[in-house]
Amino acid sequence: MSSVLEIIPLGGIGEFGMNCMAVRYGDEMLILDAGMGFPEESAYGVDVCIPNFGFLDTYKDDITAIILTHGHEDHLGALPYLLKKFNVPVYCSHFTAGLAESKLEEHDLTGDVLLHRVEPRDVVDVGSFTIEFIRVSHSLVDCFSLAIKTPVGTIIHTGDYKVDETPVIGEPIDLRSFRRYGQDGVLALLSDSTNATVPGRTPSERAVIPAFEEIFAESKGRIIVAAFASSIHRLQIVLDVAQQFNRRVCVLGRSMQKNVDVADRLGYLDIPDGLLVSLNQTKMMSDDEIVFLVTGSQGETRAALSQMAMQSYKGMMVEEGDTVVLSARIIPGNERLISRMIGYLYKRGANIIEEKRRLVHVSGHASQEDIRIMTEAVRPKFVVPIHGEYRMLFRHKEFVKNHLGYSEDNIILIENGDVLELDGERAVIIDKREIGRTFIDDTGFEEIDSETVRQRKQLAYEGTVTVVLSIDDETGDMFEEPQIVARGVLGLSLGNAFNPSGGNGQEPPRPATDYLIADAKRVIASGLTGASRQTLADESLLKEHLRVELKRFIQKRTGAKPVITIVIVKALDPRVTVAT
Ligand SMILES: [Zn+2]
Repeated sequence: MSSVLEIIPLGGIGEFGMNCMAVRYGDEMLILDAGMGFPEESAYGVDVCIPNFGFLDTYKDDITAIILTHGHEDHLGALPYLLKKFNVPVYCSHFTAGLAESKLEEHDLTGDVLLHRVEPRDVVDVGSFTIEFIRVSHSLVDCFSLAIKTPVGTIIHTGDYKVDETPVIGEPIDLRSFRRYGQDGVLALLSDSTNATVPGRTPSERAVIPAFEEIFAESKGRIIVAAFASSIHRLQIVLDVAQQFNRRVCVLGRSMQKNVDVADRLGYLDIPDGLLVSLNQTKMMSDDEIVFLVTGSQGETRAALSQMAMQSYKGMMVEEGDTVVLSARIIPGNERLISRMIGYLYKRGANIIEEKRRLVHVSGHASQEDIRIMTEAVRPKFVVPIHGEYRMLFRHKEFVKNHLGYSEDNIILIENGDVLELDGERAVIIDKREIGRTFIDDTGFEEIDSETVRQRKQLAYEGTVTVVLSIDDETGDMFEEPQIVARGVLGLSLGNAFNPSGGNGQEPPRPATDYLIADAKRVIASGLTGASRQTLADESLLKEHLRVELKRFIQKRTGAKPVITIVIVKALDPRVTVAT
């Protein structure tokens, strides 16, 4: 058995989201986090992606456990899909387990999965690995860094963290445990880079309280706070300040209601009796007695706030005099959606307070000075920046090199699929694997193969051409002109049926298009007569033959590469039937 440790990121390195990493020693493998991601570019109806776990098939019998650092979707969202492939025990905090359970329920996996709930400082043995769960602060509650003792040395995986000495809920980050490991010697620190470009310290979760107090003191009308449903500290602050200013809180939006419910049930949120009210109850109250806590801070069109702004939310719309607080950062890529939503909110007459105008949001991730505190506590031999786009990983490396005295050789920049080998002395990338990602239809939880996404892309950019060909079942001859329908194809593009005899009441095609369609029909006809006997005998061969002929023709004449579908209808020639 080899005495090296392998670290293989499956996602989350060089991108935002999809955090997942394999740690392998001999024939044992741990999976750290199983996150989902959100395709940066429009993926044609696909909202969500996960790492392609097919990569792990080779290690099927080696995977011993899944360890979750915390419950954010980009660390937890892919768990059901991973468990469907490899049903191994999962270790996580109580709150993470609460979120995981509701996810497993959605996938009908409850009861099949062994979910171990652990406390901070718990130590768990899994084969050759010994894992200690170290409490860290983050925008969510009950979050861990992982100290993993291996036969090669100890590695520390920070998860997402910031150094918050005064969190709203729970205890501060456990720096003492990090220092203890630092004294004993740490081989590698795998460390959150999300905010590595930001100088200074990340403010405590408490830092937003004064701004909220001011807003509540000033506002005469209703207050609507949009935040991430997972920002549990923030939710507690809104609940507390509402109580302080004699307002009641109405929670709207599916994920917000779910998270408030889980956090309340597990005792993480402190909600005084009678503070929460239903949407119906708010109708009986005056405007200055109400706060709505809602989803949709990213301008998501299906979430509560956008719908309220667009007047499509049942029973509630934004009105003149409302104050809307966007208590979240803008996730890169969402700028346009948010900007559009803010436009609608202004049209409705609302007053809008964003992060840029007041301190209504703080990050949950370590800025440079937090990174300094973590790195100096752990004093690792190697620093491996993780979590973030390449720009952030690089700046993390620069900071550690320029300000913490690490040499270039001791900071390892890895990418998804890299196999980083550590033997206690050296850290070397020995291989690069193709990992890829799997797209998920998040309404049906189904995997969408990349071919479907490719076809959707082709449809979106190039359009579609459908040819219906009627062939005599006995003779194999075409007994009427083929019908050609084009949609969204440049040069063939009136967007309606191109069967001149169709008479569907729409504008007649332009002459140039008409000629093109007529020529296309000739291409099909000659393709049919030119087909070999063997091709004619096999319908799928014939379709492919005609498709290729038509593709060449359209590409040559228009430059377009539409999705071409050939439909063959085999029947007895009706003209003959009538005659007999
Ligand atoms: Zn997180």
